[in-house]
Amino acid sequence: MKKKILNLNQKLISYFGIPPRSKKTPGVLDALIATILSQNTNDKNSYKAFEILKARYKNWEEVSNLSAKKLANEIRIAGLANQKSRSIKAVLNSFIKNSQPDKINFNNLNNDSVIDFLTAHEGVGIKTASCVLLFSLGRNICPVDTHVHRTLNRIGIVKTSSPDKTFFAIKDFIPENTAHSLHTNLILLGREFCKPQKPLCFNCPVRKMCKYESKNLEKPRQISSNKFLLLDSIS
Ligand code: SF4
Repeated sequence: MKKKILNLNQKLISYFGIPPRSKKTPGVLDALIATILSQNTNDKNSYKAFEILKARYKNWEEVSNLSAKKLANEIRIAGLANQKSRSIKAVLNSFIKNSQPDKINFNNLNNDSVIDFLTAHEGVGIKTASCVLLFSLGRNICPVDTHVHRTLNRIGIVKTSSPDKTFFAIKDFIPENTAHSLHTNLILLGREFCKPQKPLCFNCPVRKMCKYESKNLEKPRQISSNKFLLLDSIS
């Protein structure tokens, strides 16, 4: 599997390039909140919501003291405001009251221990924990969202039934120093070519290695480009 992933990563880099990384590494709480805000919305809107919270409040403790209604109003641009407000409050209350993550030395913990620690907190799932590992702690871990899950299954790297299962299937087979580009470029592949309903296989940069049996080989009219990813934009 490692060889296949390496090959895939090279093909993606040949087409999309090496994705830029944020100059400033986000803190653990920043990464957690940004990941919650990014669920089911586009990166520009979730980034705006993140920036609103950072600009209007001194720290996350202050945000945790907002009522759920007020917080939902502040982050409305990111969509699913009530749900995200509840999750953010749960995460902040849990972390600030119980563990103060900015004071924990995560560098002493291996990947599995960080995942166990983070997912023990309400509102934190495997994807959120893996985003913290990659973006905040700089580990060679590839978070799996619906795009990464769909593309890896269609290409034939894994055969799994959920993003979390895909994450664990590939976790120990990510070639050194490839997780960030693999994660970012698979999201771009999923957005631009490997769409859920009607993939644009005709021009797909990994078409030759893809094992998907229902490829759509119609010629597309136009390809859009959206290379804005929230956690690489935090500064
Ligand atoms: S060839 Fe089609 S199904 Fe395969 S990865 Fe590309 S867009 Fe997806």
